[in-house]
Amino acid sequence: MTSVTFEALGLAKPLLRALADENYVEPTPIQEKAIPHLLQGRDLLGLAQTGTGKTAAFALPLLQLLSERQDSPKPRTARALILVPTRELGLQIAASFKSYGHHLKLTSTVIMGGVSIGPQAKALSRGVDFLVATPGRLLDHLGQGTVDLGQTSYFVIDEADRMLDMGFIRDVRKLMKVMPRKRQSILFSATMPKEIATLAEDILKDPVHITIPAKTVAVERIDQRVHLVTTGNKPTMLAGLLDQPEFDRVIVFTRTKRSANRVAERLLQGGVPTEAIHGNKSQAARQKALENLRQGKARVLVATDILARGIDVDSISHVINYELPNDPENYVHRIGRTARAGSDGIAISFCDLSERASLRNIERFLGRSLTQVNDPAPSKVVAAVARPPKVQAHRSRRPRSRSAS
Ligand code: AMP
Repeated sequence: MTSVTFEALGLAKPLLRALADENYVEPTPIQEKAIPHLLQGRDLLGLAQTGTGKTAAFALPLLQLLSERQDSPKPRTARALILVPTRELGLQIAASFKSYGHHLKLTSTVIMGGVSIGPQAKALSRGVDFLVATPGRLLDHLGQGTVDLGQTSYFVIDEADRMLDMGFIRDVRKLMKVMPRKRQSILFSATMPKEIATLAEDILKDPVHITIPAKTVAVERIDQRVHLVTTGNKPTMLAGLLDQPEFDRVIVFTRTKRSANRVAERLLQGGVPTEAIHGNKSQAARQKALENLRQGKARVLVATDILARGIDVDSISHVINYELPNDPENYVHRIGRTARAGSDGIAISFCDLSERASLRNIERFLGRSLTQVNDPAPSKVVAAVARPPKVQAHRSRRPRSRSAS
């Protein structure tokens, strides 16, 4: 098997250096397929979800194309616009542009709601190369005249189906009207509902089509198990699992904000360093929670589906679905937080009687049934599922430090 190198895809030296800094050894399939076409100026329609390396697939060629241009952005303009549905994804993409563009002299800024507009207007005043934005706040800036998209000749929509779910499609169409017709456009979506197919037709000209099947990304590499439990046993089950040291960076998903708070409180009371993140938390609190997880200050992050897509925290050891999502696609997005970019991961779902229908839907969606563990007595189940692999036989079974940081 020949493995393609980043160099062979036509990327310039400063980008190759940045990729070496990131320890990326070889392109992921979407990068291999997308980068050469994008470097040639083609439009692209990508059916791929987060975790496939799609950010680098569009960021690297855009960085190269912009770095080759002689002009610089005029005041209040942006040469490239990357439109995203959520603030978290926006921040993550902007951070990727910074890392990959580390050896280039290009500028970027993020525009999103939930924070004050003044500093954003200031950042835009001199003009930027890359503008990463959520649609609502970008429209506010357009209304106030603090940004002008008349010179934006590169346009990316990321997670377009998520935009649709969040009711942003009308905003996207408004934005399209104020951008030049002559531009290079890229649209990524994890799924392709009719509305997105139509939007793609309106935005893209003769696009290259690339599909990275979602199921192979999320499902095949992840060890998935379901615990059939009673509702009342869920807290004990969770505590029992978290007593195992190998559960060292864990995301626990709940269906509601209330439930997220309740689970997080209980874990904190039990001495497990835990953060909670959901729609009622301020932007600053969400970022801090993610940062604490990244830095290992928190061992568990309890989250609602707000986190199920787009968030990139390395080395998540386990995803635990404390409550199953109603929508099977959300299940795939949730478990995709573990096993990122090719590493393996473990996803454990708790399923009580009221959730059996959701489980059936998920299994139908995946096209196979998940390994089930019955839960007559939680302690036995915990012992069975957290059964240490061979290496663990001589590892200490002592629970982690009980001090909450
Ligand atoms: P994305 O799908 O863009 O959110 O990327 C998912 C994760 O894969 C991120 O943590 C990236 O840093 C990582 N990643 C992207 N491309 C590569 C690569 N070629 N080699 C290793 N990791 C990568």
